[in-house]
Amino acid sequence: MSTEEMQSAFAAMGAVMRGERVPGGSLAGKAVRQPEPPKPGELKPTPQEIDGPYFRLGAPQRSNLLEPGDKPELILSGRVLNEMGKPIPRAVVNIWSSDAVGNYDMLGYKYTGYVFTDEEGRYEFTTIVPGCYYPRDAKHIHVKVQGVSSPLTTQLYVEGEPGNEDDAFYTTDLLVRCTVDEQGTKHGTFDFVLRQVTEKENVTPESLAARV
Ligand code: FE
Repeated sequence: MSTEEMQSAFAAMGAVMRGERVPGGSLAGKAVRQPEPPKPGELKPTPQEIDGPYFRLGAPQRSNLLEPGDKPELILSGRVLNEMGKPIPRAVVNIWSSDAVGNYDMLGYKYTGYVFTDEEGRYEFTTIVPGCYYPRDAKHIHVKVQGVSSPLTTQLYVEGEPGNEDDAFYTTDLLVRCTVDEQGTKHGTFDFVLRQVTEKENVTPESLAARV
């Protein structure tokens, strides 16, 4: 595939995921299936996005992803909620991103790790603002979240970083709202909303009992 073809494929995939029609429609089957829209009184589920090619199993459990010499550029925190707004304790939040110049560590585990949410459904990571890499236009942090639910794979975008609006996958639903402190560290918050498993989908007494 040529670079032009790759770029147009990425753009088309983004369009498909935003629900736009793509000429030819050949990529429609590759779109990430979105959760059902919220029912009355429910929060909107966090949209799903692509996995990308760089997820690695085996990331360490840790909230501090800084490497020696890094400054804490982004403190990312928030909650994992169910569709009724109830916090989900002990949910897994796994993030991975490129380094500051857009490279992923495919040998070790730089800039990836997972945490469990606390009793109030809270998580927090200290990391860098990743770089950007072709063919993407936005700096992004990949995420997998699971809490008595199907796993949610998505991406987060950092408020105030260049290129967000130019990116094929960017949506304000996945924007991390940030404040910046005197040291220049961004403090970003993002709440994930997961649609939890239902009795219809769930067949064991243990999994029913685990529903929050
Ligand atoms: Fe990526």
